[in-house]
Amino acid sequence: MNKPEIMPQNDIAGPAPRHQTTKVMVGNVAVGGGAPIVVQSMTNTDTADVESTVAQVAALARAGSEMVRITVDRDEAAAAVPHIREQLDKRGITTPLIGDFHYIGHKLLTEYPACAEALAKYRINPGNVGFKDKRDTQFSTIIELANKYGKPVRIGANWGSLDQELLSKLMDENAASANPRDARAVMREAMVQSALHSAERAQELGMPKDRIILSAKVSAVQDLIAVYQDLAARSDYAIHLGLTEAGMGSKGIVASSAALGILLQQGIGDTIRISLTPEPGGDRTLEVQVAQELLQTMGFRTFVPLVAACPGCGRTTSTTFQELARSIQDFIRDEMPTWKTKYPGVEALNVAVMGCIVNGPGESKHANIGISLPGTGEAPAAPVFVDGKKFRTLRGPTIAADFKALVIDYIDQRYGNGAKAPESVTAAE
Ligand code: SF4
Repeated sequence: MNKPEIMPQNDIAGPAPRHQTTKVMVGNVAVGGGAPIVVQSMTNTDTADVESTVAQVAALARAGSEMVRITVDRDEAAAAVPHIREQLDKRGITTPLIGDFHYIGHKLLTEYPACAEALAKYRINPGNVGFKDKRDTQFSTIIELANKYGKPVRIGANWGSLDQELLSKLMDENAASANPRDARAVMREAMVQSALHSAERAQELGMPKDRIILSAKVSAVQDLIAVYQDLAARSDYAIHLGLTEAGMGSKGIVASSAALGILLQQGIGDTIRISLTPEPGGDRTLEVQVAQELLQTMGFRTFVPLVAACPGCGRTTSTTFQELARSIQDFIRDEMPTWKTKYPGVEALNVAVMGCIVNGPGESKHANIGISLPGTGEAPAAPVFVDGKKFRTLRGPTIAADFKALVIDYIDQRYGNGAKAPESVTAAE
């Protein structure tokens, strides 16, 4: 009997080559055309409230959101947009603002030219841009204004506001066909056609392809994957990925990561948003953190040093390592906005915090700096490893504070001004 062939590890395929798309400049941020996958987010403040919107955009930008979308739903919101832009500029925050328009975008952009000017991109939902004979007029007005101000648009079809006329037409055609498909497949086709037809119409109206980004958001993971695969196969427009109505907490994070992870692995997606429903009073920047972590864990980009921590088990019954892992991760994330300029390259740092001797020294040696804390019954000593070598053993009640100080020293010596070669950082115990 022939032995089954065992594939060597290094033959396992990585991500597919990126789907070739047309590069679009959104303010100073490149989307598509091979540019790094862009993280974006959306505010949930009332845009008419300039102060709170500026504060939230600033928080999202500080967390790493490279573009921020704001709702522009009425006159007061449109009037506030240039003031929001001005306040952000005064604070040195250059993050492009995207205006999210439904129903009356054509009117608001016409009546508030300063709003049209201040926004870096307009998001249009083809299902909500007017109905019947008004649809083309209203859509055309937005595209003509975008052309006038030199702004790109995102044509964003959405499952919850799908173009009903198009859907009815496709449903009728499907019912009359010899081999009708199931209704869900027809709805997916309607999403794709809605986005593509609108993009073609925008081009007919004189909008160049390098000002068009497409999205087609659905709330079910399998539908989303199918829709985006189709969209990518049928066009080379830049693509915004997002699972709509992803939900709260772990449900939203898992669903978004599953859907977007598969598409990104297939090379699809130029910019992403993780649409999490925040807990009441929760931190809006969580969606930025999740988007960054998704891209970083998949190896597409590096944003923040990663802290590897073991899950813990019966071999470590104290909470010391959990507290240390959390404290180091929070500390790094809080400091990153400053470190990004002070310590270039620090985002690639790996830190390990491990709970006992079983995997502690091994995992710590793979990190730039790692600590193996004592498990239950082990001697109260915590060896620290730097660049794969044992560096020092920490003891006593200040292990956590001492390790944090060593991490800071390491970062300063490796990434600071006059950084030393990694070898010279490691002075063995
Ligand atoms: S490193 Fe130790 S404490 Fe952590 S999961 Fe492994 S055996 Fe458990």
